[in-house]
Order: sequence, then C-alpha cells, then structure tokens
Amino acid sequence: MPPAPEGGVWPLVIVGCGAAGMLAGIFAGRRGVRTLLLETRPRPGAKIRVSGGGRCNVLPSVSTLDDFHTEGSRNALKNLLASWPLTKVREFFESELGVALKVEDTGKVFPVSDDAGEVLDALLSELAHVGATVVGGVRAEELQTLENAADGARFELSLTGGSVLRARSVVLATGGLSLPKTGSDGWGFGVAHKLGHSVLRRYPALVPLETKHSRWHDLAGISLPVRLSAHKGDKLLATRTGDLLFTHKGFSGPVVLDMSRFITGPGNEDVTLVAGFGGRGFEEWDTLLRQGGTRTVLLCLREHLPRRLVSTLVEVAHVDPERKLAELPREERRRLVQTLGSCPLPIDGDEGYRTAEVTGGGVALEEVSTKTLESRRIPGLFFCGEILDVTGRIGGFNFLWSWISGRRVGESV
Ligand SMILES: Cc1cc2nc3c(=O)[nH]c(=O)nc-3n(C[C@H](O)[C@H](O)[C@H](O)COP(=O)(O)OP(=O)(O)OC[C@H]3O[C@@H](n4cnc5c(N)ncnc54)[C@H](O)[C@@H]3O)c2cc1C
Repeated sequence: MPPAPEGGVWPLVIVGCGAAGMLAGIFAGRRGVRTLLLETRPRPGAKIRVSGGGRCNVLPSVSTLDDFHTEGSRNALKNLLASWPLTKVREFFESELGVALKVEDTGKVFPVSDDAGEVLDALLSELAHVGATVVGGVRAEELQTLENAADGARFELSLTGGSVLRARSVVLATGGLSLPKTGSDGWGFGVAHKLGHSVLRRYPALVPLETKHSRWHDLAGISLPVRLSAHKGDKLLATRTGDLLFTHKGFSGPVVLDMSRFITGPGNEDVTLVAGFGGRGFEEWDTLLRQGGTRTVLLCLREHLPRRLVSTLVEVAHVDPERKLAELPREERRRLVQTLGSCPLPIDGDEGYRTAEVTGGGVALEEVSTKTLESRRIPGLFFCGEILDVTGRIGGFNFLWSWISGRRVGESV
C-alpha cells in the first residue's frame, strides 16, 4: 500500500475500480485531487473486460430517459443524465482517451477494435496520467465515520490484511451483485445500509428467465425475432422487439434480458410476458394465415419460423399440422393465431446474479444530492455506478450511467 499524503490522510479514496470508480478517479485527478482507488480483484475492470462478449458495448448511439429505470425521482435522473450529454461522452472516449468507436446496426457503440481490453487500458492509462493511485488485490472490509478528527479525516477504512486508511472523502463505486466472480459481491450495499442509507430491494436485471416446462427446453439453441409484451392484468406495461434465444433452462437473448426486469423487479406480481413469434402480433399472424389457402399449417408456418419451434407451437395450440389452412375450423385458427402472436411464456424464475448483467434497486437516489451524488446523510461520502438505484436497458445504457455518474462524483469531490 502506498503511503498516504498529507499527514496520513487521503483526500479521496474510491472503493471499487470498475467503470464508475475509474471515471470518478479520472475526473477527480484532473482537478488535482490526490486519489487512491482500491480494487478487490488483482486486476481492475474485470467487468469491462468481459462486457459485450469481450467487445465492450461502451455506449448507445441514442439515449432517452425511458432507457433507464429508477424507483426514485425521474426528474432527478433526467438532470443527472443531462449533466454529460451522449455526444460529449463519446468525445471523451474518442478524442481524450483515443479509443475509436463505431455504431453498429443495432444502435450499439463498440470500439472499432472490437476489443474491450482497449477501453480498459485507455481508462487505466488516463488514471495513471492524472496521478491516481490504483491498488488491486485489496478488499475494503469496513468503513467507519469519524467526528472532529484533528487531522481532518472523516473516514477510517479497514482493509484485508489488517491495514487501516484515513480519508477525507470516500466514494462507494462497488457495483452490484451481478457476476460476482468479477469482484462485485454487494459489500457497498451493506455499508450504505449501516451508515443509515435506504437500500431499495435489489434484484437481478437483464437476466435470462427460466421455465419448468420441458417442451420449451427442447428448443434450446433456436434464436428468432420476437415481439415481447409485459402485461399486468389488463394493463400493457411495455413492448419491445428483438431476438429471443431458447436455452436449456428457458428464455434468453436481448429482448428477454431487456424485459426481465418486469418479472424480477418490484411490483412484478401477476406480470405476464407475451410473445409474438417472428416479431408478429395477433393481427399480423391472422392476416398471414388467411392468405395460406390450400397449404397445410405445417408448410405455411415453416416458411416463417424454425422447424422445431413450429412443431412445438402447433402442439401448444392443439392444431393438426397437416390440416389445410383453408379448412381449419374457426376455433382451431383462433388458438393457432393466439399461440403464434400472443403466447404467454410460462416463467418460473430467473438465472439470478450468476448470469445477470446488472443489479436493479440499490441506494435510493433521494438520499444523495443529484448535483454531486454526495450522501445527504454522511458528508464526504459519494456513490456512483450500479450501487445506485438506476438501471439501464441493454445496449450500452448501463455503462453510460456508470460513466456519467462517475464523472459527476469526480467533478464534485
Ligand atoms: C457479462 C456482462 C456483460 C456486460 N456488458 C455490458 C455492455 O456491453 N454494455 C453495458 O453498458 N453494460 C454492460 N454490462 C453492465 C456493466 O458491466 C455494469 O453496469 C458496470 O460495469 C457497472 O459499473 P460499476 O463501476 O458501477 O460496477 P463494477 O463494474 O461492478 O465495478 C465495481 C468494482 O468494485 C470492486 N469492489 C466491490 N467491492 C469491493 C470492496 N469491498 N473492496 C474493493 N473493491 C471492491 C469490484 O471488484 C468491481 O471491480 C455487462 C455486465 C455483465 C455482467
């Protein structure tokens, strides 16, 4: 551990050297604040390295408030997001860090190199450039507040191995609970709670969903476009179109991850996910089948959907696949159209934090200053990134939140 400056007190200690912690460190360092970043993992930024399948979806190309979820004030979130517009964030990566970026057809922004390591290396070298000290392989174990300490320290931080640090300001950038092997084990939530913060119910978000019904497991490996809607009783909560991937346990793929929060998040009782296979809804399938004429159900559907899925859907609808479409009794046609265009997916659970991309819930936005992200309860304590109750959609929105909130803290401490 490097010696502390200024009579043994660090002006700023950032716990967690992930996306948010690094941005906080860079922007604090640029303002001349002597900063120490602590990281459990021997090498920082493990989650950046594995993100986007190793390619790192750094940003979305377009972003609106609706791409984010919080249980807190949407207005506060809007102001925070507006504090660093997307074009400026992109400029930061391209012009200041020298990472060339490209926009893919999906609207996601990746490094031209398709290498998450390039993004991580650029962030770490900027941290070094601004004079921040990064120490890996050290876990913060306990954080205590100090009152009226003669040396100006407001916090005492105990680390693995028994060493103790003193700091004037501390940033909790410890992430959530998702993919714990990258070092995020939820430590920051416990500390925030102990220090009097409300930590809203956490849940795996952007997570594959499970079903007990083996007929869907048998489709493992099939991927196709689907229109997925979340319904609560008669109310339509949201609809999105994208690829669904059948897995050995249930349902995954971008559209499922995106909609999973309606199942795993708060207020999820009685929420149903309804699929329109092939990206078509009830009406579109109805029109299509009416044009089927003398072709059999099987032949017609095979033109539009994978063979194995057709067999399953016909079975679910209790329809004879060899029947000519023109001769399909009205009730059978209705059942078939319903199954194709408006099929409730039987969800029995989710894969949990082991595979979830992010953690929903967390430290309540109401209890931090939306200008500085400083705790309203403990002066000198700041939060940024996934530890806060803000979750983005799939497509670079979660990193965008980490970059924006990290910078906000770095500019404020
Ligand atoms: C597989 C996967 C792929 C993803 N791909 C994308 C993507 O392409 N685009 C996108 O926008 N989002 C993606 N995400 C989400 C994104 O990675 C997170 O939203 C983001 O990393 C959160 O940043 P953070 O800094 O808040 O937390 P983290 O990145 O989790 O960093 C927190 C750090 O704190 C450290 N830490 C925790 N506790 C302690 C402690 N007590 N002492 C010291 N250190 C500690 C951890 O080791 C960790 O390194 C992906 C997530 C996963 C799991």
